[in-house]
Amino acid sequence: MKIHEYQAKQILKKYGVSVLNSVPCFSVDEAVAAGQTLGGQVWVVKAQIHAGGRGKGGGVKVAKSAEQLRAFSTSILGMQLVTPQTGPEGQKVRRLLIEQGADIKKEYYAALVVDRSSQRVVLMASSEGGMDIEEVAEHSPEKIHRVTVDPMQGLTLDQAQSVARKIGVPEASVDKASTLFQSLYRAFDETDSSLAEINPLVLTGSGDIIALDAKFNFDENALFRHPEIVAMRDLDEEDPAEVEASKFGLSYIQLDGNIGCLVNGAGLAMATMDICKLYGGSPANFLDVGGGATTEKVTEAFKIMLKNPHLKAILVNIFGGIMKCDVIAQGVVEAARQVSLKVPLVVRLEGTNVDLGKKILAESGLPILSGNNMADAAQKAVQAVLAAGA
Ligand code: ADP
Ligand code: MG
Repeated sequence: MKIHEYQAKQILKKYGVSVLNSVPCFSVDEAVAAGQTLGGQVWVVKAQIHAGGRGKGGGVKVAKSAEQLRAFSTSILGMQLVTPQTGPEGQKVRRLLIEQGADIKKEYYAALVVDRSSQRVVLMASSEGGMDIEEVAEHSPEKIHRVTVDPMQGLTLDQAQSVARKIGVPEASVDKASTLFQSLYRAFDETDSSLAEINPLVLTGSGDIIALDAKFNFDENALFRHPEIVAMRDLDEEDPAEVEASKFGLSYIQLDGNIGCLVNGAGLAMATMDICKLYGGSPANFLDVGGGATTEKVTEAFKIMLKNPHLKAILVNIFGGIMKCDVIAQGVVEAARQVSLKVPLVVRLEGTNVDLGKKILAESGLPILSGNNMADAAQKAVQAVLAAGA
């Protein structure tokens, strides 16, 4: 789960990480009033969307007068902000953050990530802040420094100081930077984050080290113990189909292909997408209906897939272990009838009560194509799409 920059900064503040004073705003008038509350001569108007690269897309603007503050707030609020991370359609800006202007002397990069190979949290930092870290990784990987955190010890002072020095923080500010890294680690650890990124982390003219941008991703499996984080969820920033799916306990992710895949189990769902690709097709979505799919769930899954205008065929791939094939077949038949299915439907069933399941499909009178195995089912789905002239 993702949150906005202003929410991330609220968390950082709670853990003692230095951030500038700022006010989240939902209207231009609120933004202008925020400028007065904050005081000073320079404010930064920052679009709040769940994607980075806002600066490049015109979503971060420095205002040097109340008039400019109003003008930038007016133009940014409500705009369709396109950044390298939003895709070409962009994301509508519904919230702003008005922040004090920083006296930036140097921009660094710092992030905590979960490193899958070592199965540990890693602090990654670089002297090259403010830009895409992917670009730094590609062109000057030697400028990215990493330390692995021992979960029993947490990020140690030694580790934090050594990283601060490696990225070139001046000696007088090393303590501030290392304390910030340690606080960031505590925030990451205690909120069950999967990513905490500060880009840029800045050195100010007076030698302070502050988080000028902040991004957190949280492990959704741990959200049950963080109601305060769940409360930060902004459904406007999420794909409506994915939000709808999550209400029914379905894991759904929309993709850009045209074969809708309905599968039980995440691993099988991934394999189904792979095999579609192998035979020249392209999946329209990832969809795991889970272990205990009911007729209702399967029907909802069909409805969600069918909302995708690019959909040209549906491939159902079920391994009935806990779930019985006859139950799922019944669900598929009822769902296909309820939604009066217009696209070709290929079903591959295997496992408990498979013969009964196949019989139900065959006797349904619906034009369901039966796949004898995964490869056969995937090929049939790809052929159905080609036949439809996609
Ligand atoms: P994004 O990463 O989405 O582009 P950032 O919050 O990192 O957004 O802002 C982009 C750039 O704008 C920063 O690298 C920094 O140079 C500048 N910036 C952001 N906030 C401020 C601020 N409060 N004062 C001065 N400059 C800022
Ligand atoms: Mg940034």
